[in-house]
Amino acid sequence: MKPVTPCATNLTALPFPGARTPVYTGLAMSCLFCKIIEGSIPSTPVFQDELGYAFADIRPQAPVHVLIVPRQHIGSLNDTDMRNSALLGHLLSTAAEIARIKQLDDGYRIVVNTGHDGGQTVDHLHLHLLGGRPFTWPPG
Ligand code: AMP
Ligand code: ZN
Repeated sequence: MKPVTPCATNLTALPFPGARTPVYTGLAMSCLFCKIIEGSIPSTPVFQDELGYAFADIRPQAPVHVLIVPRQHIGSLNDTDMRNSALLGHLLSTAAEIARIKQLDDGYRIVVNTGHDGGQTVDHLHLHLLGGRPFTWPPG
């Protein structure tokens, strides 16, 4: 995975050069994170490449709280299978790259809330990268 102008303050949520132009159908048309990716809803960019976009969570639960989303609309982890393995690995590696950029040297937590019981509130697959403080286990 190639980092592209990481943490630059002038990053925009516009489609990354070379990224496929999103084609929204059905649920994706009203998807909050699809709108953030296309730039019609503002966000604070952290990182982006051709496959994904990362931005600050609007209600941070830790000093560092970044959401990493695929540009492709995928409802949740439950909507993926082995064919998505490369993309999922890429998103995870992106999270690790951002953690390095943010100097989370003491550790961090990656969370993928999935479905109702998982506490997912936005139906576009996303990884939470949380860091900058210790976390407890088990989660609530
Ligand atoms: P989840 O509950 O796992 O689906 O996570 C959704 C996350 O999206 C929550 O942590 C919200 O704070 C965050 N969120 C909701 N709306 C926005 C927004 N407009 N910009 C950034 N983060 C958002
Ligand atoms: Zn979406």
